[in-house]
Formats: sequence, structure tokens, C-alpha cells
Amino acid sequence: MPELNLILLGPPGAGKGTQAERIREDFDLAYIATGDMLRQAVAEGTPLGAEAKSYMDAGDLVPDALIIAVILERLHGGDARDGFLLDGFPRTIPQGEALGEALRGAGRDLTGVLMIDAPDEEIVRRISGRRVGPASGRVYHVEFDPPKVEGKDDVDGADLIQRDDDRPETVRKRLDVYHAQTAPLVAHYEDRGLLHRIDGTASPASVHEHVRATIATLKLEADV
Ligand code: AMP
Repeated sequence: MPELNLILLGPPGAGKGTQAERIREDFDLAYIATGDMLRQAVAEGTPLGAEAKSYMDAGDLVPDALIIAVILERLHGGDARDGFLLDGFPRTIPQGEALGEALRGAGRDLTGVLMIDAPDEEIVRRISGRRVGPASGRVYHVEFDPPKVEGKDDVDGADLIQRDDDRPETVRKRLDVYHAQTAPLVAHYEDRGLLHRIDGTASPASVHEHVRATIATLKLEADV
């Protein structure tokens, strides 16, 4: 069976994480979210986390060499060998090239790149309203998905927190970084005939339907 090797591309806050949760269930793919991996490394105080933290808090990208090593190891090991869904990687042209080379070297190919897009203003509104339960990890939005009691986690009543990199000034910085360093990947994958554009401003349900239909088509084509 041909494997499905997919990338979710798009600005932070366009809904990649939300969609990824649904797609993983639909298609049973290994889900690799670099932001989650790095946040976990920070929480566990590993050497990777110690090195990544200051970049992340400032809204900058961690250095290519650091993240490329982590991802390539993950791609060649265990569950990702039968297909993967990458969220948050690649984020620069050198990362994209390193990924392409590693896959080619292993006789594998990318199946497609799903680009979920939304305008900057919408993203600032979405991300700066995001709150997280510190222990449960449950994510809320003050406007679109508020907790039952303001400022408190529905799960355990803990005070909700805002991630350092979700503050409005850091979000703007992350968007600048996205436009400067990550957006060039759109043309990179378009040139290779791999890019599929999805409007991230639609409702989560209709974005999901669009994403699901796109992947289902890619899967059919891959099976031929
Ligand atoms: P995310 O949750 O995907 O928005 O990632 C949070 C932060 O982790 C980013 O702002 C970066 O500092 C860092 N990060 C995640 N993925 C990458 C990557 N592929 N390259 C460099 N830095 C990354």
C-alpha cells in the first residue's frame, strides 16, 4: 500500500492543529507537530528544550540544524514509516530541502502539501484570544470557545493561562517570521505540483470537509 506523506502548511493560528486532530482520525497517520514536540522538550527540561526556549518565547524559529535533526530521526523511526502528517515543519526553504533529500534517500515521496491560509488580522484575533488549561492542556478561546466559568478550566477548575508566544505582540512577530521565512515554501511546493490551497477562514467543519476530500483524492491517486 502506498503511504500518505503529508505536510500541513500555513500561518500560525490558521487552524492546522484543529484540522490535524480530525485528519489523523480519518486517515490513521502518524502526527508530527514540531511545536508540540518542542514545548514538551521545554517542559521536560531536555537539552533540546533548553536550547529552543528563548527562540520560542521571542516568536522566532529555532535554528534549522536543531529541528531538522529531530524531525529526520522521527520520520525514519516507528509509526512514521507508513505515512505521516507533518504540522509546523518545514518552516524554511532549507528545512524543506532537507526533508525532500531525506525522503528521496529513503526511496519515499511527499504525497501532498495542504496549505491552510487566513489573513493576518484574523490570526491575531484568534491566537491572542487563546487560553490553555495548564494541567489538562485543554485549549479555549475567550470569544469563540469560552470556558463555562470565565478564566477557569472546565476540566479541573485551574486558572487558565496564555502561552507566552500567544501574546499579541509575539503573534505579530510570528506572522512576520512566517511571511519572511515560511511563505516561500508555498512557491517551492507549487512548482513541484504538490500544493493544495484551503481557505482557513471557513468554519472548522467546512475546512475539515475540504481537507478530508483533498486527502481522499490524493489517496485514490496514490493507490492507482
Ligand atoms: P507552533 O506551535 O507550530 O506555532 O510552534 C511554536 C514555536 O516552536 C514556533 O514559534 C517556533 O519557535 C518553534 N518551531 C516549531 N516548529 C518549528 C520549525 N519547523 N522550525 C523552527 N522553529 C519551529
